[in-house]
Amino acid sequence: MSSDTYRTKIIHKKNYNFAKDSQDLVRWYLENKRDLPWRQSQDAYRIWISEVMLQQTTVQAVLPYFDRFMKRFPKLKDLAGSPLEDVIEHWAGLGYYSRARNLHKSALKLQESGFPKSFADLLDYPGFGPYTSRAVSSLAFEEKVGVLDGNVIRILCRKYGLNLKWWEGPSRNILQDMADSLAQIEKPSQLNQAMMELGATVCTPKNPTCFMCPWNKTCVAFKEGSIAKLPLQKPRAELQNWIWRVQILNKKNTLGLIQNTQAPFLKGQWIFPGEFIQTKSKPKKYDVNHSITKYNIYVQIEKQHSKSKLSIRKEELKKIKWFATKDLKKINPSSLLQKILKKGIEI
Ligand code: SF4
Repeated sequence: MSSDTYRTKIIHKKNYNFAKDSQDLVRWYLENKRDLPWRQSQDAYRIWISEVMLQQTTVQAVLPYFDRFMKRFPKLKDLAGSPLEDVIEHWAGLGYYSRARNLHKSALKLQESGFPKSFADLLDYPGFGPYTSRAVSSLAFEEKVGVLDGNVIRILCRKYGLNLKWWEGPSRNILQDMADSLAQIEKPSQLNQAMMELGATVCTPKNPTCFMCPWNKTCVAFKEGSIAKLPLQKPRAELQNWIWRVQILNKKNTLGLIQNTQAPFLKGQWIFPGEFIQTKSKPKKYDVNHSITKYNIYVQIEKQHSKSKLSIRKEELKKIKWFATKDLKKINPSSLLQKILKKGIEI
């Protein structure tokens, strides 16, 4: 049996009433939705920016950033026509700077091509993963596809009582099919935003307010008292320890930086030159400690003019570019670089 047939069977075997579920949810959404700036129109550019900002961040936190960003880059052409440093500066505070870089790359491409209306075509643009592509095509162009992120996974697992290992491909495919099925009935822009709204305001990770939920009469987890157990917990990614031996090169108020091609964190970004070593345990000596997602980073700063063996290899020296020290935050807003620079001045 092909995996597609298997997925279809799982969904149909259960006799889910997606039509009624979809209608109940959209009716609730239209009565309860929050008035948010990116909901005032179906402008693909505004929807795209809001969706990228909202990844891993709450609506409340995003609102001032969205407002500031839109004032500076009101249209796609403004974003495409601005230097990357400017975009990164207006992204500062939201973290995950690779998103700002991809935003800029995609803006240049979209300026040429216009916004494709299908999620499959949007996937070709930098930073457009399955979620963002589906969000933009359904919210802006009413493509009948469902969105699937952590919020939607939580809601679906609870509502339909699913003990799925949602972090694994086959389970994710089942959930994606369910989200797609729900998006076939009502306007997909409304259905998908209703799912997002329910996850943010009612079916929250802890203490969901089920008495306010449009699905509380049919929700399996509510009926069976299994809300706290669903969705299943993803096993934690193992922490990795890294030593970063850094050399701060500075002359006449400039800093020598190199593009990171070695370490799995701060990928592709301009950083201080040096070397990275993955280690099992915490080193005895280090100058700065910092964590980025699952990476525990111990920075050892080589003293200025030190004759220690850590000297930059010739081929690395060729790749170094010099930037004004005062621009470091613009070039790389990671607080780790600021910490290293501050500590480097002290020692
Ligand atoms: S009834 Fe409660 S657990 Fe079920 S979907 Fe609604 S808020 Fe979530």
